[in-house]
Amino acid sequence: MRILITGAAGFLGSHLSDRLLADGHNVIGMDNFITGSPDNIAHLASNERFEFYKRDVSNYIFVPGKVDAILHFASPASPNPQSKSGYFNLPIQTMKAGALGTHNCLGLARAQNARFLIASTSEIYGDPQVHPQPESYAGNVDPVGTRAVYDEAKRFAESLTMAYHRFHNVNTSIVRIFNTFGPRMDLDDGRALPNLLKQALLGQSLTVYGDGSQTRSFCYVDDLVDGIVKLLYSEEHLPVNIGNPVEMSILQFAESINRVTGNKAGIIYEENSRSARDPQMRQPDITRARSILNWNPKVDLDEGVRRTIPFFKQKLGL
Ligand code: UDP
Repeated sequence: MRILITGAAGFLGSHLSDRLLADGHNVIGMDNFITGSPDNIAHLASNERFEFYKRDVSNYIFVPGKVDAILHFASPASPNPQSKSGYFNLPIQTMKAGALGTHNCLGLARAQNARFLIASTSEIYGDPQVHPQPESYAGNVDPVGTRAVYDEAKRFAESLTMAYHRFHNVNTSIVRIFNTFGPRMDLDDGRALPNLLKQALLGQSLTVYGDGSQTRSFCYVDDLVDGIVKLLYSEEHLPVNIGNPVEMSILQFAESINRVTGNKAGIIYEENSRSARDPQMRQPDITRARSILNWNPKVDLDEGVRRTIPFFKQKLGL
């Protein structure tokens, strides 16, 4: 296939590019670098099956030649209010990438009769009142809350995707991505893993927000990419959760990072600046991914952290 990936210079987009090239496809990468980095795709420059266009997907997109599949991954995604690349500081771009960007990609998919896959998110469940979250749960969200620019853009993107499927019969798919980590994450985007792993490697205390009782489930990037690619190759149209179901508190998570890195500096508790809408718990119900895609995550947290450390050390000059 010849596959367009928007957000190709991002954390997930670049790993997807690698995997789809390895599977023998041709990949067209697109990114405007507002949160992605040229470093993430530098190694693909000499690959003759990889083309790249610097574009903002919120504007009309044109790709010469046949396109067989489109993966729309372009969006800011960090919830950290302090991060320059987070969606708090890019609110309009975030809504445009999810709304106008999805519309442009769906238009292209329709014109090209291409398989379409939208990167959605566990954030569409908001601060969930059903636990773990199955795809049938409609969520607990606030259209004017502090996370709304991301949540609502992705919810709109899902609705528009289903509209193109039901009305225009476009071959669409929706992946709801839960917390994921690995090499090529932005070390400064303020999310839990980059913050804590960076602190641990520098021998600093780990900053746990609030009392650390809020829970998450962390998926290693290779597992996530495998699930997404299985969904792409399938004929499924309804949303599928992809994430690791092993749930832990953020305090346990911080303790694991200190253990794996051998950091002795301990943990400090900080006021949670995002407490208003920081989801208290999150865990994917992956029953559908297991049964429809025959997918299961294989890499546990400790192993994933060990595989991520070399990239972090290189970026930190250690
Ligand atoms: N968190 C933390 N310390 C940090 C960064 C994040 O305790 O230095 C917490 C944050 O409050 C949240 C969880 O870790 O409860 C996961 O945050 P992340 O930014 O990774 O993304 P989210 O899962 O909220 O989208």
